[in-house]
Order: sequence, then structure tokens, then C-alpha cells
Amino acid sequence: MYRIGLGTDLHRLVKGRKLIIGGITIPFNKGELAHSDGDVLLHAITDAILGASGLGDIGSFFPPEDKQWKNADSAFLLKSIYEKVKAAGWRIENIDCVIQLEQPKFLPYREAVIKSIANILDIQAEQIFVKAKTAEKLESIGKSRAVTAQAVCLLSK
Ligand code: MG
Repeated sequence: MYRIGLGTDLHRLVKGRKLIIGGITIPFNKGELAHSDGDVLLHAITDAILGASGLGDIGSFFPPEDKQWKNADSAFLLKSIYEKVKAAGWRIENIDCVIQLEQPKFLPYREAVIKSIANILDIQAEQIFVKAKTAEKLESIGKSRAVTAQAVCLLSK
């Protein structure tokens, strides 16, 4: 049996915060404003996996108003979600993602980000791909006021 899931996320970019994408801190003068560490890509992936599993969404497991998730490590949240999904009998076939940000250039970090996600989920790097797009300097993403990510995940059991 196969199930597909879709996840998306957006965070504002502000000074004084780290830019964390897929568990990797990328040098930049702004970072994601969030209750957690703001890792926009891991949040999208978490929702894609949950969506495919039918178990819920990231907000139902980790409510943003719950203080225990303040500055939460999104890698830990993703890992714990996949444990629940695996316990329900599902395995990840593949994950495909798009991250949209104007700056900095993402390509130099892509391999490290893919390896980081593979490491968090204990799957092969070949099961994950991450593409990056700019927004042609348009709107909030193009002005580096926000970063967004989309992910799809295929589960099987
Ligand atoms: Mg988020």
C-alpha cells in the first residue's frame, strides 16, 4: 500500500535569528522567526510524512502555544514523528522538497542538507531531494522577508 503526503511551511526572516534549513545552520544576516527553531524545511517534511500516514499534522502533535516546544529542535520533532509513523507500519519511500528563498545561495549547502535529513530519519540520501528556487526579487520571499518550503513524501507498508 502506498500513501502520498504534502507539507508546506513559511517563516518570516528577521535579524537576530539563525537560518536553519534541514537541520543545517546556513550563514546569513537573518533567520526564521518562530516559536521553535523555525526550520521551515523540516516542518514541511514533518507535515508531509504525517499527511501520508493519516496520523495528524505537526500542530496537533506539537501545539505552538505549548511552552515546552519553545525553541524546540525540529530535528528531534521530526525524528519522534517518524518513530510514531513507523510504529503504525509505514516506511518512507522518498521525499522531494522545494525551498524558496532569495538569499543566500542554497546550492553550496544542498548536499549537507540532504545528508542531514537522511541522518535524522535514518534513511538513504538517495531517498531525498531538495531543490531551491528564488522568487525573482518579488513579494516577501523575493525581498528576503520570508522563506518557504514544500515537501511531498511517499510512504509504503
Ligand atoms: Mg514552521
